[in-house]
Amino acid sequence: MVKTKSPLLDDVAAQRDALTALCQDLIRIPTLNPPGRDYLEICEMLGDRLRDGGWQVELVRAEGAPGDSDAHPRWNMVARYEGGRPGECVHFNSHHDVVEVGNGWTRDPFGGEIADGRVYGRGACDMKGGLAASVIAAETFIAAHPEFNGAIEISATADEETGGYGGVAYLAERGWFDPDRVQHVIIPEPLNKDRICLGHRGVWWAEIETKGRIAHGSMPFLGDSAVRHMGAVLAEMEESLFPLLASKHTEMPVVPDGARQSTLNINSIHGGEREQDPSYTGLPAPVVPDRCRIVIDRRFLIEESVDEVKAEVRALLERVKATRPSFEYEVRELFEVIPSMTDEDAPVVRSTAAAIETVLGRMPDYVVSPGTYDQKHIDRIGKLKNCIAYGPGILDLAHQPDEWVGIDDMVDSAGVMALVLEELLG
Ligand SMILES: [Zn+2]
Repeated sequence: MVKTKSPLLDDVAAQRDALTALCQDLIRIPTLNPPGRDYLEICEMLGDRLRDGGWQVELVRAEGAPGDSDAHPRWNMVARYEGGRPGECVHFNSHHDVVEVGNGWTRDPFGGEIADGRVYGRGACDMKGGLAASVIAAETFIAAHPEFNGAIEISATADEETGGYGGVAYLAERGWFDPDRVQHVIIPEPLNKDRICLGHRGVWWAEIETKGRIAHGSMPFLGDSAVRHMGAVLAEMEESLFPLLASKHTEMPVVPDGARQSTLNINSIHGGEREQDPSYTGLPAPVVPDRCRIVIDRRFLIEESVDEVKAEVRALLERVKATRPSFEYEVRELFEVIPSMTDEDAPVVRSTAAAIETVLGRMPDYVVSPGTYDQKHIDRIGKLKNCIAYGPGILDLAHQPDEWVGIDDMVDSAGVMALVLEELLG
C-alpha cells in the first residue's frame, strides 16, 4: 500500500533548480584523483554554503595520510546541524574526488552541461549528484522542521577512489563516526534510486613470488626457472582453486550475478628480465629467470573468513612444493578488507525502504556491491553497523565517458533522503 505523500516531497520538488545548480557547481570543480586536485576549493564551497545556513562546519586535512602533501592536501569537510531537541544523528557521507576523465567524451567533462533532463560531467553520477541531493534534502527538511530531534551531518571526503585513507578512514580513526555521536549513515553512491546497498564483499590482495636461480639461457639445466615454477602455480590454480571458488555461493545479494560467488583475478605477472623501453632496439639477453611475481585480487564472501581465504592459497603453494623439489615461494600481503553487510532490519534500512516505497510506489531491491567503498572504514574503524549506500545515478555510468546524472533521479532520491530524516528525526 502506498502511503500518503508528505508535504516535504513538494518542498523538495520545489528545489529542483537549486539541486541542479548545486550539482553543476560541484562538477565544475575538477577534483581529480589522482593526484587529488582542488579538494580545498570544493570543501570551502560547500562549507560556505552550509555555514550560511546555520551549520557548524569543520575542514579537516588528513595530514600524513597516504597521498597528502602540500601540493595536494587531503581536505575533508564535515558539517553538523543541531535540531532543537535531543535525538539521534543522521550522517550523509559523500566522497568529493573523481577519477580521471579518459577518452571518448562528447561533452565538457567539467562543464556541468544540461541536456535532455541530465547533468553531464565527470563525477555527475559518482557522486556529486548524490552529494547535491543530500544537501538539498537536509536543507529542505530543516526548513520544514526547524525544531527536529537530534542532529544532521553532511561530509564531503577525499580519496574514496584510491582507498579512502585520506578521507573516511582518517576521520573514522579520529572518532568522527563513533556510534555515540553518529547513529545512522547514508552514503549517496550511485546505486540506482530504487536500490539499497547493504554492503560489499571482502578483499585480499597479495603478491606471490616464486624463486629460481639465474644461469645462461643456453644451459637452463644449470639454473632454476622461476617462471616454470609460477607456471606450476597457475596450473594448480586452474586445476583446483578456480573450481573451488566457483562452487562457493553467497547469500549476500551481490550484483551483478557473476559476483555472487568467490572470485580471484590475477592482476599482473612479471618474470625474468625486465621489459625494455620501446626505444630499445637490441635483443633480449639469454638468462634463466630467477624471480617471477603475480599479484592476486581475491574477493570473498561473508560466509568466508579472511584466514580461510589466505590458508587456501598457502595450501595450494604447499601442494605445488610437494611435487617440485626446488620450489620456493614467498607471499607478501598487500591489502585486506573484511566483508560488510548491514542487516535488513537496521533502522536506516527500514526507513529508507519505506521512503522509497512512498516516493517510487514500490519496494526497493537490496543489493551488495562486488567491490568495496567507504562503508568498510565506517564499519571496521568506526564500529558503526547502521550504514547503507543509497543515491541517484546509474551505477554502470560511473567512471565512463559522458557520465551523467538524471535530474528527476536526483529529485526523487533527495525526496527519499528527506523522508528518511523526517522518519528518524521528525
Ligand atoms: Zn563513488
